[in-house]
Amino acid sequence: MMPIQLNVSTMLERAELFYPRKQVISRTLNQVHRLTYKEIGERTRRLSSVLEKLGVEAGDRVGTFAWNHHRHLEAYFAVPGLGAVIHTINIRLSPEHVVYIINHAQDKVLLIDEDLLPLFEKIKDHLHSVKAYIVMSDSTEVPSSSLEPLYSYEALLAEGDPEFQFRKDIDEYSPAGICYTSSTSGIPKGVVYTHRALVLHSMAVGLADTLALGETDVAMPVVPMFHVNAWGMPYAATWFGSTQVLPGPRFTPEVLAELISQEKVTVTAGVPTVWLGLYTVLEEGNYNTGSLRAIVCGGSAAPPSLISRYEDRLGIPFYHAYGMTETTPLVTVARLKSYQQSLSKEQQVELRAKQGILVPGLEMKVEGVNGDVKWDGQEMGELLLRGPWIAGEYYLDDSTDHIFEDGWLHTGDIATVDPEGFIKLVDRTKDLIKSGGEWISSVDLENAILDHEAVFEVVVVAVPDVQWAERPVACVVLKDEYKGKVTKEDILSFVAPKFPKWWLPDDVVFMDEIPKTAVGKFLKRRLREQLKHHLTKPS
Ligand code: AMP
Repeated sequence: MMPIQLNVSTMLERAELFYPRKQVISRTLNQVHRLTYKEIGERTRRLSSVLEKLGVEAGDRVGTFAWNHHRHLEAYFAVPGLGAVIHTINIRLSPEHVVYIINHAQDKVLLIDEDLLPLFEKIKDHLHSVKAYIVMSDSTEVPSSSLEPLYSYEALLAEGDPEFQFRKDIDEYSPAGICYTSSTSGIPKGVVYTHRALVLHSMAVGLADTLALGETDVAMPVVPMFHVNAWGMPYAATWFGSTQVLPGPRFTPEVLAELISQEKVTVTAGVPTVWLGLYTVLEEGNYNTGSLRAIVCGGSAAPPSLISRYEDRLGIPFYHAYGMTETTPLVTVARLKSYQQSLSKEQQVELRAKQGILVPGLEMKVEGVNGDVKWDGQEMGELLLRGPWIAGEYYLDDSTDHIFEDGWLHTGDIATVDPEGFIKLVDRTKDLIKSGGEWISSVDLENAILDHEAVFEVVVVAVPDVQWAERPVACVVLKDEYKGKVTKEDILSFVAPKFPKWWLPDDVVFMDEIPKTAVGKFLKRRLREQLKHHLTKPS
């Protein structure tokens, strides 16, 4: 018997077959759309057929430059349905990086949101592989533009074939998607997702002990669809027939709160910055969040104070998860084991602020200076991963082979493992503070400082020091009402009882804003650069 090949389009076919009446609710610039999976299926087939007419063949790359909405979801399935590769482009990258990755991936067709089109008019002369542009909007009109040829998505779909048959002769190890890493340093690197990786990852997202995504869920991915496939949520939710809520362009915390309350969202996923913003709005109490069974938080460490605030004050369960672009991304989820439920509230939050336990299907090791670290929650080492949805290389780049040495992905994240197997990230290799030969965890310091009621955001970075090689310096953004009223001494004396003296930051620098990467993570590299003479210059 021929082995069955895992194939992305079968996930949509299941939704068409078993859940044709379930809905995808999609917010665009002008309106909120409600489409059934039957309609999404037909529209996706139409899109596959028109892309084929435009010359897209198996193996070709089709780029998207778009927010989270139903057209993006259709592209998620239509492109791999042809055997081609969807390249989700991060809309927050610099124009230089956008040009670089489109040329590197050799995108043949680009699907672009109408409000994001102007960038392409500026960079079009530098794009060498693009044969056609398609504008995604609610209209069938083509806006006036210097892009050539430019088609309207809806006008093309009107001519497409609603019964187009997705390709079934696709080897499961062939690429279905590609995403370039957000790259806090250096040039972006392409991570390829195979059909097999995307299907198995979706299955992992549905497991009871991970995120337990299922048919009864109303799933709202806030994490962008251009960033690691919105953590795989749109693929998994479609497969399982969950209702989906796609929050569209330029949403605010108020828009998210309204969608949660109106559409009765049960599970949503995003980075801590988004949840910090939403908390402020929800705290006022004007929204009904009773439907929420899980806020999934990843991409950066979830501060314990954030977990407690959501759970204790709002009664919303908060799931901390960890992953990276190279891992499709789900790697760990911090959920308590049955016998840990009786721990004190404080111990529970401490465990759940760790990155958690490896999801089924993956393998890990944590390598310290003397080989595998002891599972004592103390010894630190680099986290190494392998498994069916862990990348084995970067696309057309062999300068980085060392990252995949011996068949393991070297994550660059420094972790401890406790006796229960919970990993805790203490830093990234590049972010470590090594003071007098000893490591200091910037993450622990950040969490402690964030507990201070006046602090809105904080980042702790390593700054060169003559005596100790490096010392920690805290960069703090105060909440508006505390600006000018809180001193360095206030912050340091607040955290002092929690740490050995030598861990305490040498300085606290108050800022208006902390610089962030394209996906909203703190840009520690920029701060390190800014502060590199901070401790050595004469005061
Ligand atoms: P990206 O590939 O842009 O998604 O970034 C992945 C990196 O983000 C990881 O290697 C970690 O350094 C960091 N990261 C992701 N999730 C978490 C988390 N839950 N806690 C701490 N750091 C995280």
